[in-house]
Amino acid sequence: MARAYDDTASFPAGDSLHEECGVTGIYAPEQDVARLAYFGLYALQHRGQESAGIAVGDGSSLVCYRQMGLISQIFDEERLAQLQGSVAVGHTRYSTSGSSLVLNAQPLVQRASFGEFALAHNGNLTNTEELRARLLPDTAFTADSDSEVLVQLLAQLSGPTLLERIRELLTLAKGAYSIAIATPSELYAFRDPWGVRPLCLGTYGDGWMIASESCALATVGATYVRELAPGEIVQINAAGVTSIESEQHEPAALCMFEYIYFARPDSVLSGKSIYMARHEMGRQLAREHPVDADVVMAIPDSAVPGGIGYATQSGLPYVEGLIKNRYIGRTFISPNQQMRSQGVQLKFNPVIENMRGKRVVVVDDSIVRGTTTPRIVALIREAGATEVHVRITSPPIVHPCYLGVDMATYDELIAANLTIEQIRVKIHADSLGYLSKEGLVAATGRGRENFCLGCLTGEYPNKPVATPDIIEACRE
Ligand code: AMP
Repeated sequence: MARAYDDTASFPAGDSLHEECGVTGIYAPEQDVARLAYFGLYALQHRGQESAGIAVGDGSSLVCYRQMGLISQIFDEERLAQLQGSVAVGHTRYSTSGSSLVLNAQPLVQRASFGEFALAHNGNLTNTEELRARLLPDTAFTADSDSEVLVQLLAQLSGPTLLERIRELLTLAKGAYSIAIATPSELYAFRDPWGVRPLCLGTYGDGWMIASESCALATVGATYVRELAPGEIVQINAAGVTSIESEQHEPAALCMFEYIYFARPDSVLSGKSIYMARHEMGRQLAREHPVDADVVMAIPDSAVPGGIGYATQSGLPYVEGLIKNRYIGRTFISPNQQMRSQGVQLKFNPVIENMRGKRVVVVDDSIVRGTTTPRIVALIREAGATEVHVRITSPPIVHPCYLGVDMATYDELIAANLTIEQIRVKIHADSLGYLSKEGLVAATGRGRENFCLGCLTGEYPNKPVATPDIIEACRE
């Protein structure tokens, strides 16, 4: 989901905020669907830590509870007991700077001529304003988000059923949207025609489950069946699952950053284990950027498979150099640069014995703004490392993301402004090596034509129409 971004100089109003989110959906009469949604969201907490919610349908109406905070802070036994029914959708939201409002929390519940529905959205639209212009002038908005535009559009389109309206929505909405919708008695899920964000389907006993990532299915004991195809709609009710292919066909554009950073390593994406893909990225990085060193370490958690891959390929021992305090959360949660910097120190403690007197290779998955890396290098040097060689399992990130990943603006992206050698100097590393685009794509086991590599190439499946403001802001 996305909401308006404070930094209006950087992105077009309304089309802006760049967030990852996690969505779940359960259709399982006779089961505790709210509890299943809760545990599913628990497994998707890495996709968003700002707010979360669950909506449950009991056959005749919907009840929704959403709040700011982590899943574990929002729900307790009492709250879950109030959410009884046979169908549920859940949402966990990611946010960076700007307003953190419960109004932006999801699922969003709306009444329409065909009945009530609750919607949970992961992704970012690129034509929000165009869609907003289609809405009735007196449409009452409660939050400033593209997700709410989708909700209002579904409520106002003329199709007789929700399914008809979703089909039409797929021809109208541009950008990234993986969505789960609950009505009082049915579950719907669909992916945008480009398939930018993931969404998968599983079985739970006689019922069905939808989740952003397969790790959520595994967590509740559901069995993974398959990913939804780009543009596919599934309708789940007492008759089972019906798959409806959209009329809208677009070139596939799965976000590569899901492989690099976002998805959990125990998830499977496009038939490939994220762990194994990252391990291979590390191996390929060692082939492309070998270095004479004593040990290899990784920045926990996302870079660990890549670090182990680098060590495996290079034959150097893999050590744990930094221990992460797991309860701090991702540093990006901190809303400003200063707090982000402090967050890094709060986040890691060095294992000095693994680094003292050693030439250390440190593997991370990405450098975005370049705030984290120099602090990591400093920590490693303070621990007594004699050399620090930084290796990154992604190519330089040189463009912002319009499709749901918080990627900063051109001004903030370090690799959009400095050469690799200048970055090396800035982060105080003895050497710096990035994985090539070709090496990255090869590690996924799939062809380049399947991916959105917008942050690496500037070629996006659908970019917002450039106004003079955007051109100025993006310095294109
Ligand atoms: P930066 O300090 O901006 O260079 O951030 C890079 C670090 O943040 C890396 O260690 C990544 O693991 C992590 N990271 C990269 N992209 C994101 C993102 N979109 N949201 C949160 N963390 C990220």
